[in-house]
Amino acid sequence: MPQVAEGWKTPEPMRVDRIIDELLRRGAHQIDIADAFQAADPDWMTAFSIGSSAKACVCRQVLERSHSVLLVWRTDGSWHFGCGADHGDESEHVVTVGHVIESDKTLVELHDLPIGWKAERQGAGFSWNRAPLG
Ligand SMILES: [Zn+2]
Repeated sequence: MPQVAEGWKTPEPMRVDRIIDELLRRGAHQIDIADAFQAADPDWMTAFSIGSSAKACVCRQVLERSHSVLLVWRTDGSWHFGCGADHGDESEHVVTVGHVIESDKTLVELHDLPIGWKAERQGAGFSWNRAPLG
C-alpha cells in the first residue's frame, strides 16, 4: 500500500485520475499506487471501458517495454500506445490492452478516453493532456 503521511478520505467517489494525482502529491510512488489499485479490486483492469482483452496497437519500444507510453490514441476498434518518438511504426505490433497496462498500471486513468481522441504526456508520472485527434 502507498506510504502516505496520513490516511485520507473523500466525501464522494473520486475519479481514478484525481486519486492518482492526489496520491502522487502526497508522495506515493507510481508502483505503490498500482499495487493499491490491485489490492482494492483485483479485476480493476476491466475499468478500461472496452476490457483488458481489447486490441492494442503498439510500437516496438512499448512492446519491448524499453520506453514509457507517452502517447495514447483511440480509433474505432483499437487502442494505440506509442512511446511518442516519430519512428513511423507506432501501431506496428498488436497485443492486448491488458498486456500494455500490466507494464504501466497508471494507464488505467485513460479508461474513459473517447474514440477519436488522443492523450499525451511528457514522461512517466506527468499528467496526461487530452485532445481530439486532428
Ligand atoms: Zn514508439
